[in-house]
Amino acid sequence: MNRLYKSIFLFALSICNLQSAICQSFTHADTLRGSNGPGRDWWNVLHYNLNVKFDLDDSSISGWNEIQFKQLYTNEVLTMQIDLQDPLTIDSFIYQYKNSDITVNCSYTKSGNAYFVTLPLSKTLPNKFEPFITSAKIYYHGKPHIAKNAPWDGGMVWTKDKLGRPWISFACQGIGASCWFPCKDYQGDEPDNGATISITVPDSLMAIANGSLRQEHNAKKNTTYTWEVESPINVYDIVPYIGYYVHFSEIHNYKALSISKKNQEIADTAETTMASGAFGKRKRSYDGLDMSYWVLDYNLDKAKKQFKDAGRMMKAFEYWFGPYPFYEDDYKLVDAPYLGMENQSDIAYGNEYTNGYLGHDLSSSGWGLKWDFIIVHESAHEWFGNNITSKDIADMWIHEGFANYAEALFTEYYYGKEAGDDYVIGLRKNIVNDTPIIAPYGVNKEGSEDMYWKAANMIHMIRQVINNDTLFRQILIGLNKTFYHQTVTTQQIENYISTTSKIDFSKVFDQYLRTVQIPTLEYKTQDSTLSYRWTSCVPGFNLPLKINFKGEQWIKPTEEWKTIRIPSQGSDKFSVDRNFYINVKKVD
Ligand SMILES: [Zn+2]
Repeated sequence: MNRLYKSIFLFALSICNLQSAICQSFTHADTLRGSNGPGRDWWNVLHYNLNVKFDLDDSSISGWNEIQFKQLYTNEVLTMQIDLQDPLTIDSFIYQYKNSDITVNCSYTKSGNAYFVTLPLSKTLPNKFEPFITSAKIYYHGKPHIAKNAPWDGGMVWTKDKLGRPWISFACQGIGASCWFPCKDYQGDEPDNGATISITVPDSLMAIANGSLRQEHNAKKNTTYTWEVESPINVYDIVPYIGYYVHFSEIHNYKALSISKKNQEIADTAETTMASGAFGKRKRSYDGLDMSYWVLDYNLDKAKKQFKDAGRMMKAFEYWFGPYPFYEDDYKLVDAPYLGMENQSDIAYGNEYTNGYLGHDLSSSGWGLKWDFIIVHESAHEWFGNNITSKDIADMWIHEGFANYAEALFTEYYYGKEAGDDYVIGLRKNIVNDTPIIAPYGVNKEGSEDMYWKAANMIHMIRQVINNDTLFRQILIGLNKTFYHQTVTTQQIENYISTTSKIDFSKVFDQYLRTVQIPTLEYKTQDSTLSYRWTSCVPGFNLPLKINFKGEQWIKPTEEWKTIRIPSQGSDKFSVDRNFYINVKKVD
């Protein structure tokens, strides 16, 4: 979801303009939060075991998070950075010695929202270092920061449903999961073996979280719901929902995909790969995916109608991107007290049971009103965002650009290729070219909201240049297979696309992701000659272009003037294919 589209309605423009990277300044706290610093780089999270009780009398929470981790290298003294945001407070930090029941209560210091715990690791180190696994249990309590305008600002949403009953959740993207529990709040380190999330609430309420429901335990008029995620998970995606929920479900079968003959070959490849287990090392079969829908009791009838788009979504995206990446953790769509969020296997839904984006078509093409935006967009993040996650939020275009383009692919799947083109071209009106899509690294900073529409249009242009939709789809599936359950850099994604397509797109990525200039095709016609070149571009920019001149043809402009012969009559009919997001300028 991200800060999705808030500017459309709020007209909020960035304070800084083209020189944003220069006029921004970052604090020590930004670096602590956004980088893989010395308090983080020596340990790898394996599992979070989170146990939190919600006190409805005073809107406070209390509990613990047991972090299982692997020490990656040795040192005499290692300091561990744990993130937990004010006004929550850590009560104690209990370190467990390797291979023993011996524990020690560690001391710590605090700098802003980061705690630094000095671990007594020197006592446990063997002569020859071997990475070892151990754990730490962190007790904490407090009243989490309340979001004023979730999901845009983030934090806890402690509200009431239409019947005046409690309805509680969190929106953590941007603000981070450390707004509600202690963790390594950094996208580059997901818990390899997932998370166990136990939420305790009064008996009358239901608590939902990521993954599959494993246990309900009653005690003293409270119920603890334990949910289990087996896959690596984005820490900002770990989110509970508490309220008066009911649910219904359906089983999705990957093999039931309807695939046209033309694409049979690639479908066979996908199925074979799955059968061999390369897509998923885990036990769950792909025969049946539990898709369950958790909604407030009074929304049940509406949901049964509107959530048909979830089945449509799953069918379309498994076609384009390969199998849903979290079969072992199920798929859930959950009524949320805010618009939406891609919480992994636990998608937040708050689109008021309307098509479009709260009834609006963000593309103005008409196609955006044919389906429920939140179901389609947020679920697309299961592939791009949750399966493939950017290590640094500066590279969030990997999440949002592909999810935005997924909307066009969904449109194309059900309404045809021209409809998909109309949709993505229609999104261009939202591009502002204020700051680059890729932001500075290591300081917890996202780039421009152009990471949605402009990145989607860049992907669409790359598809045109590849000029082979079977190969393009193979690349989308290949990305999800190659970077399955991984965190990545933009360079890995860029290189994969260039290598697999055998076309060097590096200058195209530089132009559209790292500058705010729109490349301009300058051209002139004289008699039977068309002259053309790129301007307003990065050095070496070489995007091939499809033009129409009494029929389609490709040209390969550079910064130098080039010419081709054209029919002397009809030079006024020159046009650039509409699928390219560029400027065109006639010069004398
Ligand atoms: Zn999104």
